[in-house]
Amino acid sequence: MTTHLRTSQRLLDGCTLFIGGEWKNGMETFQRFDPSSLSQCTGVYAMSTEEMVADAYKYAKTAQENWAAFTAQQRSEVLRKASDILEEHLETATRQLTADMGKAIRDARGEVLRSIAILRYYSGDALQPSGDVYPSADNSTFLLTVEEPLGVICAITPWNFPFAIPTWKIAPALVYGNSVVWKPAEAASGSAVLLAEVFEAAGLPSGVLNLITGSGSRLSKALTGNEALAAITFTGSGGVGNRIRQSVADRNIKIQLELGGKNPAIVLADADLEDASLQVLRGAMYSTGQRCTATSRVYVERAVSEDFTQKIIDKVNALIVGDPYIETTEVGPLGSPEQLKSVNQFLALAKSEGVTILANASAPDSDCFFPPMVITDVSAKSRLVTDEIFGPILVLQVVENFQEAVSHANNTEFGLSSSLFTRDLTTAMKFIKLTQSGVVHVNRETAGVEPHVPFGGLKGSSSLNREQGTAAREFFTTTKTVYIRST
Ligand code: NAP
Ligand code: MG
Repeated sequence: MTTHLRTSQRLLDGCTLFIGGEWKNGMETFQRFDPSSLSQCTGVYAMSTEEMVADAYKYAKTAQENWAAFTAQQRSEVLRKASDILEEHLETATRQLTADMGKAIRDARGEVLRSIAILRYYSGDALQPSGDVYPSADNSTFLLTVEEPLGVICAITPWNFPFAIPTWKIAPALVYGNSVVWKPAEAASGSAVLLAEVFEAAGLPSGVLNLITGSGSRLSKALTGNEALAAITFTGSGGVGNRIRQSVADRNIKIQLELGGKNPAIVLADADLEDASLQVLRGAMYSTGQRCTATSRVYVERAVSEDFTQKIIDKVNALIVGDPYIETTEVGPLGSPEQLKSVNQFLALAKSEGVTILANASAPDSDCFFPPMVITDVSAKSRLVTDEIFGPILVLQVVENFQEAVSHANNTEFGLSSSLFTRDLTTAMKFIKLTQSGVVHVNRETAGVEPHVPFGGLKGSSSLNREQGTAAREFFTTTKTVYIRST
């Protein structure tokens, strides 16, 4: 049976708010344009008002009480159906993702497949053991814990993973009995409409998932100040994350923030240089460097620095950068004109600081395209080394040894992901202890995470509550401790 989705019609009509089970228009609209072809309008979207956000919370609150009374089997079944429907629409979803933010089509498809896997994981997890039984000091007491949903969750998501990040927040929130008010990034709103339609078609009751399209800064107060709000799950920049944290600081709101990164890779003299250069290239340049876990700095031991540098130069210069809808394209454009402007400012800074540009891929000189590049001779204090660029610019530095590399790698306010390339197990074990990041890779690129294990950063990259895997169950539920005494 094919499920009919109306995403393309909604994006023509600007009917993109999904509140209380109904699709609605707004008084105002905003448009988005294809970053690989800026003359193409990819969608018209309703700009939500604060009143509409308040409505969404009202519906979410009532709907949550009914949804929590569903059995785990029933909730699991809705997610399983959602995964099947998304799979049925894999190609449409993939093209929508690319139209939203320019991700190369094969990576976009990989991301939608990941969303399908996430839905299936949480569909299965719904039926896993819940709560624990403990021995009691009193033999006539049965002592146990039960998990309960939190209530209404606000999910605020970024544009760089339009399907995967919303799915890894919304799927667990729903399956453990919560309802959701979801504000996707403006630049990922088309994918968001499609995903909300998938949940609707899967039979999710009205009001359990509400989609708010519109500006994050304009709706901030309405999103974070509603009294029905029980928890916020946010992924995005540190600046916005910290503002959200402050806005709920005097309330008892559970909060999960996954923020930026400035992820280092270390290449030691004993590494497999061919493999290391390929991993570093992928980590730094794929998805146009716009992954929170992207490799942004590489520290190479002097003994192999010439060999490694040549290998990475050759690989960067050979990258296929261009039309993201072509299957062989490796790197698409940056996500939006705003993103291009921001990365161009870092390039201007690099030029003004007189850094050396080692490699520079060829890229179309139009729309939001930007040539992937490797730079060196950069001061450790430069913003190129300290700030998240969120684009395909890799800073390469030569170091004398492992200790120096680790000290540079850790010298950052961020702590999301890090990589070490070596064949020496003892050094690898040392690195796992010393590196200040929530995700650690040995002989793998910094980017890329599996959906069934906890994920999150240290230091300025995270509020330290992990996402995904069993960590998601912990975040999206609370515990009641129950003492039952037989008389
Ligand atoms: P962003 O500018 O912080 O925006 C994230 C979300 O917050 C968007 O939906 C945005 O809406 C909304 N928003 C903006 N201002 C707000 C406010 N004052 N109150 C409430 N919501 C507000 O981040 P982005 O540019 O979309 O994404 C890139 C950033 O995300 C990078 O820093 C990247 O490292 C980080 N990221 C982290 C992870 C991780 O897991 N650690 C994963 C992916 C991305 P609008 O779009 O409408 O402004
Ligand atoms: Mg932004």
